[in-house]
Amino acid sequence: MDLGKKLREALAKLTGKPYVDADDVKALVKDLQRVLISNDVNVKLVLSLSKKIEERALKSEKMESLTLKEHVTKVVYEELVSLMGQSYTPRLDKHKILVCGLYGSGKTTTCGKIAHFYKTRGLSVALVAADTDRPAAQEQLEQLAKQVGAAFYTIKGEKDPSKIVAAALRKAKEDVVIVDSAGRNAFDGYLVEELRGIADVMKPDERYLVVSADIGQIAGKQASEFDSAVKLSGVIVTKMDGSGKGGGALSSVAASDARIAFIGVGEKTADFEPYDSEKFVGRLLGVPDIGALMERIKQVSEETDLKKLESEELTIESFYEQLKAAKKLGPLGNVFSMLGASDIPKEMVQQSEEKIKRFESMINSMTKEEKKDAGLLRDGSRIARIARGSGTSEKDVRDFLSQFDKMDKMMNMFKKNRGFRKKMEKMMQGKQGFPGMK
Ligand code: GDP
Ligand code: MG
Repeated sequence: MDLGKKLREALAKLTGKPYVDADDVKALVKDLQRVLISNDVNVKLVLSLSKKIEERALKSEKMESLTLKEHVTKVVYEELVSLMGQSYTPRLDKHKILVCGLYGSGKTTTCGKIAHFYKTRGLSVALVAADTDRPAAQEQLEQLAKQVGAAFYTIKGEKDPSKIVAAALRKAKEDVVIVDSAGRNAFDGYLVEELRGIADVMKPDERYLVVSADIGQIAGKQASEFDSAVKLSGVIVTKMDGSGKGGGALSSVAASDARIAFIGVGEKTADFEPYDSEKFVGRLLGVPDIGALMERIKQVSEETDLKKLESEELTIESFYEQLKAAKKLGPLGNVFSMLGASDIPKEMVQQSEEKIKRFESMINSMTKEEKKDAGLLRDGSRIARIARGSGTSEKDVRDFLSQFDKMDKMMNMFKKNRGFRKKMEKMMQGKQGFPGMK
């Protein structure tokens, strides 16, 4: 999805830096604005999101053990989740569903998807074709019913959809009854009348509006219109797979009186899921489970007290501590360093267990003085001794030392910034305002 790629790029700019400041946050917010607006997200919503991110990222919250960078990432994530609306938990009991929407929005396909969804959850399902405008629509639904193993009801040639529905309901014993209705080119009085007619005989428990993601923020307007006419239980946004306007569609529905119930992400019956805004945003940002990740980062930083390490001179011992801490995150380690939670460069975290074990034996073969002052290890005879003692080669030892040097250089760069960082932290705790920030 285009939106996701651009969002990831915007965040990557931030996470690629050793430190971030108010200007970086503002630049990120600008990038987000551009990305969201080009995805047809409403300008007003984007501005209010920007304001919230700036406020929360730079002022209101304490950092605790999270660094500013992680904090900003977390705030951006949370605000995006709230922009994209609430998650939906579909009911799993016996119930009747009326599906409505304009032509071509994906109604009939979606009826098949809902049927598949409930079939795979062990419920029996009936599909009712009440789109009397186009005979092809009835055949299309019949095909889908066969495909997913649902019962199928209609009356061929009948022009009154209410009669089809009434007859179907007399016969249908299935747990979930899904009615596909006729669409229109535009929302109008006739459509409302027809839907109300069906609803009167059907008494649906759920009324879902189907909209296509490619209409962008118009989805919100459509949701409001249908909602005030037939009281929707939710909106199903289809074609999320193919549209660059999905963000606009979702956020505009989230801002309307209606809510998002499901999303369609492809043409097949299985390409369908209940809406989960956290999962959705996580996917956009390329972090499948950001909640768990944040929790894990917090734990590890508390355990190893990275701040304390940072304030000390880098020694081989503290380097090793950090490497172990980053390693503890397992496969999440990459993301961990991507988010800037660790000062350990990504390549180092990605090193194999085996290599880290070798580092460990080398470190065990060092004297106390060497561990505290890596400068002593420029001496070739010491290197030879450590290689012998740890059962590694001299090349291995040199390799380790060169990694350590790289790290040391980075740390020195950070240290130069330390005064700045202190100031930042004070600002984060609200002791000092940001110059130029509203
Ligand atoms: P209806 O007129 O509202 O009943 O729309 P249809 O169900 O007939 O769907 C119209 C077209 O949209 C069909 O070609 C479907 O295959 C396609 N379609 C529906 N949902 C999705 C989706 O989630 N992703 C994609 N890529 N295509 C979809
Ligand atoms: Mg149809």
